[in-house]
Amino acid sequence: MEKQKLVIVGNGPAGATAAIYAARANLSPLMLAGNQPGGLLTMTGKVENFPGFPEGIDGFDLVMKMQEQAEKFGARVEYETVEHFTLNPGGVHRLELSGGAVVECDALIAASGASPRYLGLAGEEKFRNHGVSACATCDGAFFENMPVVVVGGGDSAMEEAIFLTRFASVVYVVHRRDQLKASPIMAARARENPKIKFVWNTVVTGLLGGSDLEKVALRNVATGEESELPCRGYFCALGHIPNTRSFAGQLELDDAGYIRLFDGTTRTSCEGVFAAGDCADPRYRQAICAAASGCQAAIDAGRYLESIR
Ligand code: NDP
Repeated sequence: MEKQKLVIVGNGPAGATAAIYAARANLSPLMLAGNQPGGLLTMTGKVENFPGFPEGIDGFDLVMKMQEQAEKFGARVEYETVEHFTLNPGGVHRLELSGGAVVECDALIAASGASPRYLGLAGEEKFRNHGVSACATCDGAFFENMPVVVVGGGDSAMEEAIFLTRFASVVYVVHRRDQLKASPIMAARARENPKIKFVWNTVVTGLLGGSDLEKVALRNVATGEESELPCRGYFCALGHIPNTRSFAGQLELDDAGYIRLFDGTTRTSCEGVFAAGDCADPRYRQAICAAASGCQAAIDAGRYLESIR
């Protein structure tokens, strides 16, 4: 059995930045990269909004560069997922890994990210990075003067739709009901935007095209009528699912499953466990925010480890 001072779960921007800071603080962190190494950022193509890369940078390259930076300062990376956590407030935490190994640690940083909710249509996989996205901020600029579809009726859908009007020729919001779930202010903003057209009582049943998305197939749930809508972009805004299931019952989570943080720090409800990035961020979910909170978590974890020496 291995004993570590600090284990970081996840190697997206939050985990990797935590690893850079922790390694430079001589904490010799072990970073567990899991089964989607690099996290959500690797699912988008070019990242054009991460400061420091005016030409943009491939999402995968960006997180791999962060990881390389962490390894340069002494972080160790294992491509393992955690099967089971046994968290022990103020004591030693025990992690059972998918490969069968057991790791113990004095401090843990949860940076396990979140996954966008998709409808589960085959075309969503086929056209990933060829029209399908779950992040307008990341990918909207690729759809200059093109028609796009946003699926969903919540605040995320309104925010995505409004943002996309900067680029797209028209933004169709396809919603399964005839009323929005979004807050009145966001809904009003979207309704007032002349580039946004609502397609009510409608579900997407398929995504069609050659190598790139060309149209979506729709069904009106009130009338049963089937139709097709030409579009080059398809943005899923059905909410996110934080990857926190394995912490349930051991860390305090909010109603949507995000890890609760305390006192404006990255401290969780379990002493010695810190959280950073999308698994604890229902609001911003941006790579730069995740990276910043990873830095905070490494500093908080370092101070904690100092206090128990
Ligand atoms: P929500 O859960 O609020 O909304 C999800 C939307 O997706 C709903 O309209 C829902 O439909 C629809 N949906 C879910 N599953 C399906 C499905 N299988 N088929 C069709 N439609 C589906 O998620 P959001 O990400 O929008 O918001 C999450 C939280 O973050 C909220 O609290 C929100 O207020 C907050 N937020 C705030 C923002 C802001 O203030 N600027 C911006 C973004 C988010 P239905 O309505 O029928 O349930």
